[in-house]
Amino acid sequence: RVLVGTKVDETHANWVTAYNMLTGIRVAVSRTNAKLDRPLTDADFDVKQKSTFDIAGNELVPSAKYDFKFKDYAPWVFRHLRTLFRLDPADYLMSLTGKYILSELGSPGKSGSFFYFSRDYKYIIKTIHHAEHKFLRKILKDYYQHVKDNPNTLLSQFYGLHRVKMPYGRKIHFVVMNNLFPPHRDIHQTFDLKGSTVGRDYREDDLENNPRATLKDLNWLRRKRNIELGLQKKQLFLEQLYKDVRLLQRLQIMDYSLLVGIHDLQRGNEENLRDKTLRVFNPGGSGNTSEDFDPHSVLMRTPSKLENQRKARELRQMIQSEKPVPMGQTSSRMPDELEEGQNRPGFIFNQDDGGFRATHEDNAPGDEIYYLGVIDCLTHYGIIKKIEHFWKGLSSDRSQISALPPHEYGERFISFISSMAMSQEEAIRAAQERDAA
Ligand code: ATP
Ligand code: CA
Ligand code: CA
Repeated sequence: RVLVGTKVDETHANWVTAYNMLTGIRVAVSRTNAKLDRPLTDADFDVKQKSTFDIAGNELVPSAKYDFKFKDYAPWVFRHLRTLFRLDPADYLMSLTGKYILSELGSPGKSGSFFYFSRDYKYIIKTIHHAEHKFLRKILKDYYQHVKDNPNTLLSQFYGLHRVKMPYGRKIHFVVMNNLFPPHRDIHQTFDLKGSTVGRDYREDDLENNPRATLKDLNWLRRKRNIELGLQKKQLFLEQLYKDVRLLQRLQIMDYSLLVGIHDLQRGNEENLRDKTLRVFNPGGSGNTSEDFDPHSVLMRTPSKLENQRKARELRQMIQSEKPVPMGQTSSRMPDELEEGQNRPGFIFNQDDGGFRATHEDNAPGDEIYYLGVIDCLTHYGIIKKIEHFWKGLSSDRSQISALPPHEYGERFISFISSMAMSQEEAIRAAQERDAA
């Protein structure tokens, strides 16, 4: 099997950026975690905490390899969000720190965002546009409240919002979020679905070279696919989806997708041999051929248990003492827990090996595990989209254009997903009724 992308070592252009991102996160997060917990205040949502890193370091900031500035946004809000999402603070830091090797995949896509995996594959760092950054800060209170009210939300889980700036460099904004897909399972098929058909097609001919490409709405329809959840699970899924989409509509958000990863239990894990290092890829979600990097086809290496235990100890000490451990002293290994499955206890849609197992109408378990979530949900229906809508509206069928206003976008999204969640029996009945009419 071919390893996609090129390894990024210390001489690679993105090495310094990634190093600075992780150093900043490590110092900022351990600083906040070291304090006694307290309830949030309104002011917490507007906080920006700035640190200046250099080779010398000082009492507040440890020395770093490179000069850079780091900003941590709303650190207390994200600390509380991480708790709501039940992350272990030590695990979080462990995943995002230490030595790392990068691998870069594809070239910048339409949105220009870069994606980096934590080396244990649990977290994704996504660079975002300044407009998305400003927007996330603006809606943070609504998002926080939604997560509090909806512990099983399908929306992207945001764990941190930060910025790095290198001398003479531009400002790079980024979020840390959940990787929807598990480190320990092959994902045999991936779909990025918006409920639109215009331009939502991955060229089937290209699948031969890239069998794990992210497929789109038309590929889904062509395969006459459905997700088979049985009555009860389907209701849980759709009810949560409605609530999430209502929020996105209210906040005037659009262009988001349902990301669906499918693990086929019959095929199992024949290819899961990934290198557990931090990796960067640029999938360019709007997706032309080479951008459709498949994050799941990366090789992984397994670390030793002793190394893990040592690192966990170091990190706990570091958190307790409020003194960050300088870079390089911690090992690059991942925590033990990862090697056993990835169940996230208490989360409905992660109950079956980190995902949601297919179930037939008669409640018999199916042969697939679905990994589901709503991603790319920071696009505000602003002026650009209005212009795009105007121009596209002159040519294609209006309801099929992807730049619909947020309310219509959400309705179309929900209706597409409700129909894809029909069981085979339901779909046959619906088709018969249609034919009869
Ligand atoms: P665009 O705006 O052009 O659609 P983008 O740069 O905003 O692209 P996204 O749409 O967020 O990128 O993501 C692109 C692809 O990256 C997705 O189709 C999916 O394959 C992968 N991806 C994104 N977020 C996640 C996630 N949380 N877990 C797993 N894979 C993800
Ligand atoms: Ca997208
Ligand atoms: Ca986007």
